[in-house]
Amino acid sequence: MKFVIIGGDAAGMSAASRAKRNNPDLDVTVLEKTMDVSYSACGMPYNIADPEREIEDLVVRQAHVFREKQDINLLTGHCVESIDPVGRTVSGTSLQGKAFDVSYDKLLIATGGAPIIPDLEGFDLPGVLALKSLDDGRKLKAYIKSIHVKKVVIIGMGYIALEMCEALRALSIDIEMVKPRPVFLPWMDKELAEVVRKEIETHQVKLYLGHTIEKIEAENERLKVICSDLMLEADMVLAAIGIKPNSELAEQAGLDLGVKNAIAVNKKLQTSNENIYAAGDCTDAYHVVTGEKTWIPLALRANRAGWAAADNICGKHVALAGVAGTAVFKVFDLEVARTGLTMDEAYSHGFTPAEVVIKTRSRAHAHPGASLIHVQMVGDTTSGRLLGAQMVGKEGVAHRINAPAVALHNRMTVEDYCQTDLSYAPPFGPTWDPTLTAANQLLKKM
Ligand SMILES: Cc1cc2nc3c(=O)[nH]c(=O)nc-3n(C[C@H](O)[C@H](O)[C@H](O)COP(=O)(O)OP(=O)(O)OC[C@H]3O[C@@H](n4cnc5c(N)ncnc54)[C@H](O)[C@@H]3O)c2cc1C
Repeated sequence: MKFVIIGGDAAGMSAASRAKRNNPDLDVTVLEKTMDVSYSACGMPYNIADPEREIEDLVVRQAHVFREKQDINLLTGHCVESIDPVGRTVSGTSLQGKAFDVSYDKLLIATGGAPIIPDLEGFDLPGVLALKSLDDGRKLKAYIKSIHVKKVVIIGMGYIALEMCEALRALSIDIEMVKPRPVFLPWMDKELAEVVRKEIETHQVKLYLGHTIEKIEAENERLKVICSDLMLEADMVLAAIGIKPNSELAEQAGLDLGVKNAIAVNKKLQTSNENIYAAGDCTDAYHVVTGEKTWIPLALRANRAGWAAADNICGKHVALAGVAGTAVFKVFDLEVARTGLTMDEAYSHGFTPAEVVIKTRSRAHAHPGASLIHVQMVGDTTSGRLLGAQMVGKEGVAHRINAPAVALHNRMTVEDYCQTDLSYAPPFGPTWDPTLTAANQLLKKM
């Protein structure tokens, strides 16, 4: 059987490796449009913060290892331009300009996502950069070095924008952040979002909310981000507005698209064509709380979906439960975490939610070095189910979110959660874990 994979990063290379492990005789070909495979995009902000580190440090496994040790036919510099689902062929052009056709028995689309670049004047100017691929990271690092960037305007305030804000401040670069929406972190509880906002402003970053970007202009080797009521000058502009799924190939091949135009897949990662699977940021997924389709582009689910697609292609029967939307990021000295639904999401999915916001300590009473942890928790007053949690604090947040995340996977009620046996020792938290304190308070409102 010939298994062909389009895209050679998290989902694609996970699938290729898993397929060869399952069945060493399988003929596996990976077509990757860039020259980079299997790297940690998530590590890029931290790598950029350190001029001594090579961007290549982020490569998890080199292309030659896949070829020589795992017998995977990995073709870098091969951009797929079309899929013929009837003839079971993919076609494209190599970086050398050579056309290629590759036939398949089973195909996996693992094309990821692409940064959203607004169709506005000036977004194609040199010095206006985005951060998605390893090559973007390479270019960004080289640009900062080559012109000794002193000031950056970041457009957008999502997690990549915030991680980059910290990374660039570590290089003593001045930062201004701007976005059209007037709310700072719209998905986050207001009180928690305010903690994050203060942390950023404490690090001399200026935030401009509610300013619609009209264009970017270049003048005297500087860039001007022009809004209707504001103008920001910079040596470099980072467009960190968000990403969209790379689903055009699938759409042209007549495959069904789902939420936010991501490729629609079932729990076995099969698309609307039984011989074509899709995995990672280019696909939708089931949400374990709502049971409905969602699109949450994150790394673990891409890796897991790659494995599951390969297992199914190799004759195993693997169905993925879905995602809880668990996500963490760091911004300066803060850890920020979420899992499950916000209040708004809960309402829009027909729940009757209640919430609590509590403040507690990261270590036991009187234990030195404690800091505040803010927890927001959402439950459904009709079914009693736990629906979601968010947390912000200087320590003990990123991993603590995993307890409510597991509870969501198991459809636990808030009352069940209150009875869980969570860990305690003074350096790690109060006797009642902060999530237990929140759940106990939430139970009173249920
Ligand atoms: C700066 C940054 C920080 C991040 N931090 C985190 C984090 O902390 N936690 C987290 O969970 N996630 C994080 N992510 C997201 C995470 O990197 C992605 O969810 C993950 O990489 C998705 O894997 P993927 O294989 O689906 O897609 P991708 O990694 O995007 O890989 C898709 C591959 O397909 C190739 N491709 C696309 N089209 C074609 C074509 N037509 N022909 C051939 N090849 C093609 C692309 O070149 C690419 O190599 C971060 C992302 C970025 C950019």
